[in-house]
Amino acid sequence: MELWYTEEQTSSLRFSCKVKETLATAQTPYQHLAIIDTEAFGPMLVLDGMVMTTIADEFVYHEMISHPALFTHPCPRKVAVIGGGDGGAIREVLKHPQVEKAILAEIDGEVIAQSRKFLPEIAGALADPKVEIHVGDGFAYLKEHKGEFDVVLVDSTEPVGPAVALFSGDFYATVCAALKPEGLMVAQTESPFYNQEILAGAYKGLQAVFPKVRTYLASIPTYPSGLWSFTLASKEYDPLVNQRQPHAGFVSKYYTPELHRSCFVLPKFVQELLSRP
Ligand code: SAM
Repeated sequence: MELWYTEEQTSSLRFSCKVKETLATAQTPYQHLAIIDTEAFGPMLVLDGMVMTTIADEFVYHEMISHPALFTHPCPRKVAVIGGGDGGAIREVLKHPQVEKAILAEIDGEVIAQSRKFLPEIAGALADPKVEIHVGDGFAYLKEHKGEFDVVLVDSTEPVGPAVALFSGDFYATVCAALKPEGLMVAQTESPFYNQEILAGAYKGLQAVFPKVRTYLASIPTYPSGLWSFTLASKEYDPLVNQRQPHAGFVSKYYTPELHRSCFVLPKFVQELLSRP
């Protein structure tokens, strides 16, 4: 008998992939968690029925939420990842030798535990001595840590449940306050095809707080529409002006110095979406 996992991406669109084995399921205090081994993408983390990450294409998302900001800051010593319990963003942050401390503020400890067990390629870096893990609300965490961070990466789920607040103006103001005077942040801001209101709302919300705001795109096969957006917001540095080159030994599968610049070149429909009043 064939087993298929289906994600309802919109009320009229579904994404299905063939399942080899269910590796874990849990109902946590925050969400339903599943880790399934799929034929096309290998092991896959699913939260409340939504694909979070897969072994086959996680490198795109985790490199692109991390490196544009980290190669824009001249010396990122202290970095916070909000959400990101699978550990992939932390793994990419630690590729920067300047980083002395990487904080993970993930509300659901079960995501960390199951990712460590079934997704070691992604979660392995969480064991690094530079990493400090806080299991709790990332919003509350940042409120208690003003002026501490060079870079904050908001690697949250979609704006549902505990992540709703992570797409609010108050949260963006709290991130701004948690950053040092020359700090910058990146938030994942959903699909420019299926989630235009969320992307436009995040962009406008960040513009109300930060002087420099730039959205960029990456292709992620297992995410709704296969095209994903990130929005970088900065107090001082501009990714198209202050770009550092990778150090010798830097390893990536998607991010390149050329892509650092080209990913900010947006299709006309996205430009128009972001320029709406
Ligand atoms: N790459 C994924 C995406 O784009 O949807 C996100 C991956 S990561 C698994 C998302 C994490 O955000 C989840 O583990 C979830 O528990 C966490 N999260 C949601 N709301 C949060 C909050 N308020 N504070 C901290 N973590 C939160």
